[in-house]
Amino acid sequence: DLVRSRGLGDVYKRQAIDGPAGAGKSSISKVVANELGYLYIDTGAMYRGVTWAVLDSHVDVKNQKDVESLLPSLDLTLEPTANACKVFVKGQDVTDLIRQQQINENVSTIASYKGVREYLVERQQAMAAVGGVILDGRDIGSVVLPKAELKIYLTASVDARAKRRWLEVQGTSNEQSLEDIKNNVESRDEMDKNRDESPLVCVEDAIVVDSSNMTFDETVEHILHLVQELSLIHI
Ligand code: C5P
Repeated sequence: DLVRSRGLGDVYKRQAIDGPAGAGKSSISKVVANELGYLYIDTGAMYRGVTWAVLDSHVDVKNQKDVESLLPSLDLTLEPTANACKVFVKGQDVTDLIRQQQINENVSTIASYKGVREYLVERQQAMAAVGGVILDGRDIGSVVLPKAELKIYLTASVDARAKRRWLEVQGTSNEQSLEDIKNNVESRDEMDKNRDESPLVCVEDAIVVDSSNMTFDETVEHILHLVQELSLIHI
C-alpha cells in the first residue's frame, strides 16, 4: 500500500524476475505484483502449455521440426488473474495439468527450440507492452525485456529449492519424492543454462537475491524494498 500510495509502482513499468527452477519466482512475483497493482505474467506456464499440447497430440518431443509445426494451430492463451495465470490450449483449461511430472520432464527440451522461443517471446513482449507488468522466467532480463526498469535474479541453493517444491506438491495429485524433485530441478537447470537459444543467465544489470536463508515473506519484503530504493534514485 505504501508503494502504491506513493505512486512508485508507476516508475517501474516492467519488472523482470529470472532464476533457476524452484527459486520461488512465481509465488513471489504474484505477491509483489499484487502489492504494486501490477499484472503478473508467468512465462514458464507458456512453455508448459506448449509442452502439454505437444504431448497431447503425441508429437515426438525430440523432433524439433514436428514440435514447431504445431505452433500455428496451437491457440495458447494466458489469462492472468489475481491469484494465478490461467493457461488455455484450444479453449481447454490446462492450468493444473501443466504442473504434472511429465511436463516437468519434457518442458526444458521444448523450451530449447528456437521456433518455440520466438513464438512465445513475441507474445510475451506484446503482453508486456501495456506496462505495469512483472514477468518471470529465464530470459526476461536478457531477451524478452532487455530494457526492464528492474531486473531481479532470484536464486537459492538446489537443496532449498527442491525442498520448497516438495512441500508445495504435498497432498496434491502432483506429489513426488524429494529426490525425484531434486533430480528434475537439477536437470532442468543444466539444460536451461547450457542451451544455445537464450540460456538462463544472470545479466549484468540484474540484482541478485539469494533466498536460501530467507522466508517467503522476507523475500517479498526485500524485493519491495528494492523497488522502493530504486524508485527514490530515479526521482
Ligand atoms: O518457470 P517454470 O519452472 O515453470 O518453467 C518451466 C520451464 O520452462 C523451465 O525449466 C525452462 O526450461 C522453460 N522456460 C524458459 N524460459 C522462460 C520460462 C521458462 O526457457 N522464460
